[in-house]
Amino acid sequence: MIALRTLVWFAIAAVAMLGAVWLAEQPGTVTAEFQGWRLDTSVGVLAIAVIVLMLLGVGGWLIYRWIVGTPGNLLEGWFDSKRRRGYRELTRGLAAVAAGDAVEAQKHARKAERLLAEPSLTLLLSAQAAQLAGDRVAANRAFTAMLDDQQMAFLGLRGLIAQALQDGDQAKALAFAKRAFELRPQTPWIVHSLFDMQAQLGEWKAAQDTLDSGVRRKVVTSEKGRALKALLEVERSRAAERDGDKSAALTLARNAFGLAPERIAVTERLAELQLKAGDSRRAVKTIERGWSQAPHPDLAAVYFKASGESDPLKRVAVARRLAAQKPDDVESHIVLAQAALEAGLWGEARRHLENAGGAHPSVRVCRLMAEVEERSHGEQAKVHEWLARATTAPADRTWRCSACSAPHATWHSVCESCGAFGTLHWREPGSFGHVLPPETRAELEFAGGTTK
Ligand SMILES: [Zn+2]
Repeated sequence: MIALRTLVWFAIAAVAMLGAVWLAEQPGTVTAEFQGWRLDTSVGVLAIAVIVLMLLGVGGWLIYRWIVGTPGNLLEGWFDSKRRRGYRELTRGLAAVAAGDAVEAQKHARKAERLLAEPSLTLLLSAQAAQLAGDRVAANRAFTAMLDDQQMAFLGLRGLIAQALQDGDQAKALAFAKRAFELRPQTPWIVHSLFDMQAQLGEWKAAQDTLDSGVRRKVVTSEKGRALKALLEVERSRAAERDGDKSAALTLARNAFGLAPERIAVTERLAELQLKAGDSRRAVKTIERGWSQAPHPDLAAVYFKASGESDPLKRVAVARRLAAQKPDDVESHIVLAQAALEAGLWGEARRHLENAGGAHPSVRVCRLMAEVEERSHGEQAKVHEWLARATTAPADRTWRCSACSAPHATWHSVCESCGAFGTLHWREPGSFGHVLPPETRAELEFAGGTTK
């Protein structure tokens, strides 16, 4: 192909040479005069000059086309290779992030950023690389820059929320969380985070709105939503009582009890308010209903108070009425044992404690047994035996967070350890299984149906 083209060019050049020689040999002269200049030449030379000028014109045109006519192709080629290099840096950077190599990741991130003028591609890498390197300022810059990109804004907010929480700046975290929730109200993670933040700040009404939206979008199961709403109403009832609005406090507590009588805090709140309002008969009914679903020593205390009985033997009868609501539960056996102990009914107390303890009596049961032996003036050896057993006995039920397993001496709506709302349950240790990483367990807790 090339050889053929060369041959053609040689042929054309040869013909042109012969033509030029032939023209130059032709007789005849041409004379030109221009403003005092005079040119004498042969026709042949003039013809050659014309041909040379034409060739120069064609050459000039070709050079012009090469420079001006096809700049797109040239620049495109250059940009193509730049983008290819950019992608390569991006890939290497992501691989470095995955491998946990902060220095390498940041190096590639910087190169990719320079080569690819596409922030949506490089910002995430830059942010991750900065986070890995512990460079909070650079990470913050990358997350903030993401806010300008519609596709990246949610990710940017997620990073900024995490940073604000690390800094302990709850107000800032809440502001970012609200923006993220507006962008993607169907994402479980943000629904859960915003809800917990609002609850931690005591913004019960706002938390309720977030929860309602989550239930509507099926991010929160209706079962879970019902229990959480009841606990929010418990908090709102407390706030109303503090503000001196007793009737609102009672209404909220009643609503909560209608929603989730299986939550101990809900039962306790309503019974307490009924008792304060002088309606001990209703308080008794409330506790009995709550006990049948979830017994707890605090409920027994309110029940005895509502009964108004101070005579130890009459209190045994009160305890029997309460225990009858859930006769097989450990709490029922213990409440009966304690009432019997106070009334000096040693045999009955021992019998209930044996029922409560089974083959492996808990710390609480062992201590009560020691007390029975002590107060019944039994053998000191038995007292010591029970006290010794208590030191190695299985732990009792306690308020325990289903999200982080942290134990609490008293019930709180917000876990003091992990900040989750509505996760404290009256349980034995180990009843929640393994402790999961924060994010997984938060989502599980929100979607799952754990009850108190
Ligand atoms: Zn917790």
